[in-house]
Amino acid sequence: MRFSTRAIRMGQRPDATTGSIIVPVYQTVNFVFDDVGRPRGYEYSRTANPTRTALEECLASLEEAKFGVAFGSGMAAVDGVLSLLRPGDHVVSVRHVYGGTLRLFEKVYVPRGISFSYVDGTQPEAFGRALRPETRLIWIETPANPLLQLVDVRAVAGIARQHGARLIADNTFASPYFQRPLTQGADVVLHSTTKYISGHSDVIGGAVLTNDEQLNEQFRFYSNAAGAVPGPWDCWLSLRGLKTLAVRMRQHEANARAIADYLSKHPVVQEVMYPGLPSHPQHELAKRQMDGFGAIVAFRLGGGNREVGRFVKALQVFLFAESLGGVESLVCHPATMSHGALSPQQRTAMGITDGTIRLSVGIEDVQDLIDDLDRALAAC
Ligand SMILES: *Cc1c(COP(=O)(O)O)cnc(C)c1O
Repeated sequence: MRFSTRAIRMGQRPDATTGSIIVPVYQTVNFVFDDVGRPRGYEYSRTANPTRTALEECLASLEEAKFGVAFGSGMAAVDGVLSLLRPGDHVVSVRHVYGGTLRLFEKVYVPRGISFSYVDGTQPEAFGRALRPETRLIWIETPANPLLQLVDVRAVAGIARQHGARLIADNTFASPYFQRPLTQGADVVLHSTTKYISGHSDVIGGAVLTNDEQLNEQFRFYSNAAGAVPGPWDCWLSLRGLKTLAVRMRQHEANARAIADYLSKHPVVQEVMYPGLPSHPQHELAKRQMDGFGAIVAFRLGGGNREVGRFVKALQVFLFAESLGGVESLVCHPATMSHGALSPQQRTAMGITDGTIRLSVGIEDVQDLIDDLDRALAAC
């Protein structure tokens, strides 16, 4: 079966007793045993729950993975992967890593004796140079937040394999519809399912997918031991979201391409960052390793907070909010929102100026979105 069909059907057989087409919300803590030592397959919902199993099987299928473990949030999924580490271990990560991931690395795992090095993800050799004998994981995000730099997954996978390190790819921005890093050599893919996978800005969740049985067992062990599991309603909402992932992603991308084109011709806009634009420095890599360019578009206004303030106040369709990946279009100001906790020097080093704006392009009528941007750019 192909992607769109799997998104609707995988892990979701009609209910054996009632024939229900939709996997029920198994809102239960425990499951009856048939006899001493004989559960029917489920015992206690921290360990496993049928609604969660359906979601895990569907997600694994979409990432072309054998195994999947769902978590209560994207950050719980990140923590699940980091549970592989022991004191003394070292991780090489892209510098443009999601802010919450960076906080978990630095504020939780560094005090526990794990060390991290950060490299420019656009230079595959930089990963090789940062390796140490104790490097266990290489951590990538591609495209990266908020400036859409890419990592060459195949090249970095080769470096990881040679060293005996595991390559972890956070695939939240592309979604499995546009990119499947396991097929390009990554060992583990993780998602904040909060974003495109659920797609409607109504549920927090995460997942870890792999083809490695031993890694999967470790993730499953940790999920049961630490208990950051998603509830059945949340799993059900994510399953419902997945059914339309393919059509949503196609529309998200069509809208994003039109908006990137529009912005690159606007005189007030200094620079547009979008992997689908031929001006993107890694456009060729994007064409090679992705099936589409996604729907996050970043651009720069000449001024700073004052101009950005006028811009966001004039918007009527785009909502001024954090997060991404929902059907509604959002505008975010990285310098004061997602990257507000960094020092101005750290932000400058990452290329995040006060005039940088990030759009999560939704699936509304694209002309309404362009009219909205046009009105707001005229105001700044
Ligand atoms: C949102 C996000 C996360 C964290 O996910 P939550 O569901 O918010 O916990 C991790 N990585 C990326 C790339 C994200 O966008």
